[in-house]
Amino acid sequence: MKKIFSFTFLLLLSLILSSCVSTATQPPVTSTPVPKSVYRPPSPKLVTPPNITSVRKNITHVVAPGETVWRISKMYDVQIKDIVRANSLKNERELEMGQRLRIPGACPVKPIISLYPSKKWKYIIIHHSATGEGGALQFHRGHTSKGWDSLGYHFVIDNGTSSKCDGQIETSPRWLKQQNGAHCKAASMNHKAIGICLVGNFSKERVTKKQMESLLYLVNQLKKYYKIPRRNIIGHGKVKGATTECPGKKFPWKTFWSNL
Ligand SMILES: [Zn+2]
Repeated sequence: MKKIFSFTFLLLLSLILSSCVSTATQPPVTSTPVPKSVYRPPSPKLVTPPNITSVRKNITHVVAPGETVWRISKMYDVQIKDIVRANSLKNERELEMGQRLRIPGACPVKPIISLYPSKKWKYIIIHHSATGEGGALQFHRGHTSKGWDSLGYHFVIDNGTSSKCDGQIETSPRWLKQQNGAHCKAASMNHKAIGICLVGNFSKERVTKKQMESLLYLVNQLKKYYKIPRRNIIGHGKVKGATTECPGKKFPWKTFWSNL
């Protein structure tokens, strides 16, 4: 029964992400050079829902922080050489944040979650962005302008704004490098908690259905792999010493808890 549920859930997750693609009508985004020497931790385990190959489209993808052609090829199930050719890339390792890439014959975007062996991660902290719009690229620019070395969260779950799909899971460079977070100072959580930010202001609006499904998929994968107990999966505002209502009073905790 559980297996059937998991499979149905993964299938649903793939389907829910299927309707959204970034198109050529998106506003232009300024490019910022990405460092050339990108840290590559040793082979992580990759988890991802099964492919739904029946719907393929030519789309435009806006490169987010830490993304490589390899990762983008996995996200859309398109070969690296096809992305390189479609964009006349001279060097596939030199992508720039904000760069617009043509992805020929892309499958609906799906999450590519890298799981690195580690004893460091004991908690998962849920945040909201407290903004109506955004994505990893915009938060990265905001956080680096404060002097941080990258986006403070480990994952961002989009709401369909800023050229990203509703429910799309973005992995931050901080997770790819297995660095401490910069999302919750209270109780020294930055040293031991995985930070997940949902785009939206849930003091005023609701988490979208697709965001919740993606959040549950991500949290369940992390919880299982790092053996994080349920009591250690909390909202930012519930951390001892934190003075915030993040992720907002409308965050649907009941739905969340009943599916973990
Ligand atoms: Zn927060």
